[in-house]
Amino acid sequence: MGRMISIASGKGGTGKTTTTANLSIALGKMGYHVCAIDADLTMANLSLVMGIDDAYTTIHDVLAGKATISEAIYATAYENVHLIPASIDWEHVIRADPRKLPETIRELKNKFDYVIIDSPAGLQMDAMNAMLSGEEVLLVTNPEISCVTDTMKVGMVLKKAGLAILGFVLNRYGRSDNDIPPDVAEEVMEIPLLAVIPEDPAVREATLEGVPVVEYKPDSRGAKAYMRLAEKVARIS
Ligand code: ADP
Ligand code: MG
Repeated sequence: MGRMISIASGKGGTGKTTTTANLSIALGKMGYHVCAIDADLTMANLSLVMGIDDAYTTIHDVLAGKATISEAIYATAYENVHLIPASIDWEHVIRADPRKLPETIRELKNKFDYVIIDSPAGLQMDAMNAMLSGEEVLLVTNPEISCVTDTMKVGMVLKKAGLAILGFVLNRYGRSDNDIPPDVAEEVMEIPLLAVIPEDPAVREATLEGVPVVEYKPDSRGAKAYMRLAEKVARIS
C-alpha cells in the first residue's frame, strides 16, 4: 500500500507546488513509483511547474463525473513519476465537485508507492478537501512569524482531523536578515523540521523553465535540500 501525503500551508506562495514537484521527482529518482496530484482546483499550476502542457483529461473532469481517475493519470518525463493535472479554465472548475476528491483518489494508494497532493493554502473548503485526501501531511512554511503561525494552525486542524503530521519544511530560508532561524521555527511549530530549503535562484529559474530544480540543476543547493527531504520522508515510513 502506498503513502498519501498532502502538501499544505497556511499562506499561499510558501512553496507547496515547488515542494510537491521536487519531492515527487526526488522520490522517483530513488526508485519509488509516485503520483503527483494537482489538487489546487482553483489556482492550478503544478503542470506548469513540471512542464506538462499536453494533458487533455484532468482531475476536474473526474470530479465532474466525465472521466475515470485512470484516464487522468499521465506519465511524465521524470523517472517513475506520474501526474494528475488540473484544468485552469473556469468552465471546468465550476463543473467539478471538490467534495468528491478524497474518495476519488483513494484507489491510487493501491497503484503507487507515493501519492503527493498539492493543496491550496489555508483552511477553506477547497483546501480542506484536498488536504484531507491524504493520510499524512507535510507542512511548508517560510521563515516569517505570520507564515509560521498560520501553518501551525493548519497543522493543528489536520491533526485533529486525524492526519499524521510528518513535519515541516522551512522554505526560502536566507532571503532576509530577519528570517526566523530553523531551531526557533521548530520550537514554535512543535513538530519535526524535516528540511531547510534555502532561497535559491535556481529554484525560481527551474520554475520558469518548467523543469523542477532537482532535475534542472541537481547540484544546486535547493536541489540537494529537496533530495535530502525525500530521503527523510522515505525513512519515516
Ligand atoms: P505555493 O504553491 O505555496 O503557492 P509555489 O511553489 O508556487 O508556492 O512558489 C511560489 C514562488 O516561489 C515560485 O515562483 C517559486 O519558484 C518560488 N520559490 C519557491 N521555493 C523557492 C526557493 N527555495 N528559492 C527560490 N524561490 C522559490
Ligand atoms: Mg501552489
